[in-house]
Amino acid sequence: MHDQYAVIGNPIGHTKSPLIHGMFAEATGQDIVYTAIEGRPGQFAEDAAAFRAAGGRGMNVTAPFKLDAFAFATERSPRASLAGAVNALKFDGERVLAENFDGVGLTRDVVENQGCAMRGKRVLILGAGGATRGALLPFLEQQPSELVIANRTVDKAVALATELRSHGPVRGCGYHDLDGQRFDLVFNATSASLRGELPPVPATVFTADGLAYELAYGKGLTPFLRMAQQTGVKRLADGVGMLVEQAAEAFDWWRGVRPETSAVIAKLTVPLR
Ligand code: NDP
Repeated sequence: MHDQYAVIGNPIGHTKSPLIHGMFAEATGQDIVYTAIEGRPGQFAEDAAAFRAAGGRGMNVTAPFKLDAFAFATERSPRASLAGAVNALKFDGERVLAENFDGVGLTRDVVENQGCAMRGKRVLILGAGGATRGALLPFLEQQPSELVIANRTVDKAVALATELRSHGPVRGCGYHDLDGQRFDLVFNATSASLRGELPPVPATVFTADGLAYELAYGKGLTPFLRMAQQTGVKRLADGVGMLVEQAAEAFDWWRGVRPETSAVIAKLTVPLR
């Protein structure tokens, strides 16, 4: 029988994960079956256990189950522990191993695919939710000169920065505190774009030869990216590379083979206009 993997989320109809992992499996000659499961709210443990009992070897986990997957795991990587959220599970006998590859996938996309080093740079991340939590440690490992987290609920940004302080120069603040400050790399990790909204970030934070990165993907030019473009930022990116790179990390973790990502990213990329 083929080794079975799945992505679980709700809703799950829009997921690109079966396509991505199918392309990885074909390119690397791995004999796997990868499906999508619509998890039932409040019943993550039952759904994951049923998949595992039916022979499942691992799962990708997406909204709204990343915290449930954290609780379901028996062992969590440092990245998953720090993020407080899990986006990949591996079943190994009685053990349920948990990882969070969102931040490492994002960092790899920025540094390797966009060619945008973070070392010595001023980095701003908007939002203090799950995606930001996953990104902070991988970002700090790149040794930016400063990492600023800005959030609508200021306390959440400050608390996160306090938690990470021993790992590098990180600071939390509100949007008003960004007035008069400039950053080399600006990430929109709020969910505002999913509703066509713009977080209240001043247009002056961008640098023309810097990078504006929207974590949401497949939405073309979001209000955040449009604003960055209007202020003269030339390098714009959405989260499709992050999506594919986190999938590649999971694939490698499960199968011990790291797939090539560029062809998959090219296939899924929607023009930013
Ligand atoms: P969460 O729900 O955990 O966090 C949402 C954050 O957005 C909070 O900080 C919230 O602020 C803020 N926010 C929401 N609406 C607004 C608004 N109108 N103005 C300002 N701030 C706002 O979401 P996630 O962290 O899971 O996801 C964030 C984004 O990252 C989404 O767009 C998601 O699609 C994307 N993502 C992309 C991935 C990829 O592979 N490319 C993977 C994971 C996420 P407050 O705390 O004040 O409520």
